[in-house]
Amino acid sequence: MPDRIERLQVVRIDSGIAMRRAHGSGEIARRVGRVIVRILTADGIEGLGEAAPWAPFGNTADTTAAAIDGALRAVLEGADVTRIAALADAMDYALMGHPEAKAAVEMALWDIAGRRAGLPVHALLGGAVRETIPLSFSIADPDFAADLDRARAMVAEGIGIFKVKTGFLTHADDLDRLAALRETCPAADIRADYNQGLAPEEALRFCRDLDALELGFIEQPVRRGQERVLAMIAAALDTPVMADESVYSAREMLDCAQAGWADCVSIKLMKTGGILRAREADAVAAAAGMPTYGGTLWEGGIALAAAAHLIAAAPNIRLGCEFYMPRYVFARDVTAEPFPYEGGAVRVPNEPGLGVALDEDALEADLVASRG
Ligand SMILES: [Mg+2]
Repeated sequence: MPDRIERLQVVRIDSGIAMRRAHGSGEIARRVGRVIVRILTADGIEGLGEAAPWAPFGNTADTTAAAIDGALRAVLEGADVTRIAALADAMDYALMGHPEAKAAVEMALWDIAGRRAGLPVHALLGGAVRETIPLSFSIADPDFAADLDRARAMVAEGIGIFKVKTGFLTHADDLDRLAALRETCPAADIRADYNQGLAPEEALRFCRDLDALELGFIEQPVRRGQERVLAMIAAALDTPVMADESVYSAREMLDCAQAGWADCVSIKLMKTGGILRAREADAVAAAAGMPTYGGTLWEGGIALAAAAHLIAAAPNIRLGCEFYMPRYVFARDVTAEPFPYEGGAVRVPNEPGLGVALDEDALEADLVASRG
């Protein structure tokens, strides 16, 4: 039975974070801008979505809110919520780019579909192949000693994966930080993420120095557009090289596979534009023998629930996830219940839809503007 979109509310929020974060492509000190989407149907069902853009990946919370309230609202008003694939196509046709905006809308449609069916979203995607997703925490605090203390405590909680953000200090600093983390957490799967931070002429040399450290992978050492260098590094190293900023879509995944840019790829709803497009990109990766990973920008509990449902039903997204933001970074998220963690992993939600409800007081406290 069809059901129509009666109301589309675009809520722009700004949330405080509990620690500073530094990366190859810039530092976030105090607050993170996000967009919460609330879609109410004629039958009275509400679906939730969230966009967490980051300028180095193309958009801000303001440009994303404007995209949903403008070009996407024109497509969505009065539309049948059950036609998710058709609406994803219509959004792509109406607006170039803006994957964060499209992802937020699409996950609200999945939330509605699950609530109507009385099933968790992963059941609509083929059913869960895993109940939990191993959690990676990113070492990105400019106060590295604080991060080492955190890592020690997290190992005690069961976390076994750490991703060190590299490329914003000197190369010697990065080697020291990786060695210190290895000493602190000898059994951990340690990975490095340059966030495009190396110059092309130094990247291969620097990455070779990391090759002996037996890292899980080295992520995006050079800038998007410099895939020739990325492919050179992937070919030269024993350590797997992960593409992140270089691969947003299924088409870019195909280029990555054919030209050997990388050995594995970070998949993010905020890059692909939603669950359907993420599955298309992951299918290309799987066909090419490239495992994928649950990456993030600045998502909170709504968007990460959507991503957890995706990963639950996607055998090839098997390198874990970095869905630590609600627990470790946001001072307070806007969801009613804490994001589900269990023994160093994310527990896949099993409630109908995304399985997330809003904390209206928390939403109000972070509110910047609301439209619709
Ligand atoms: Mg990355």
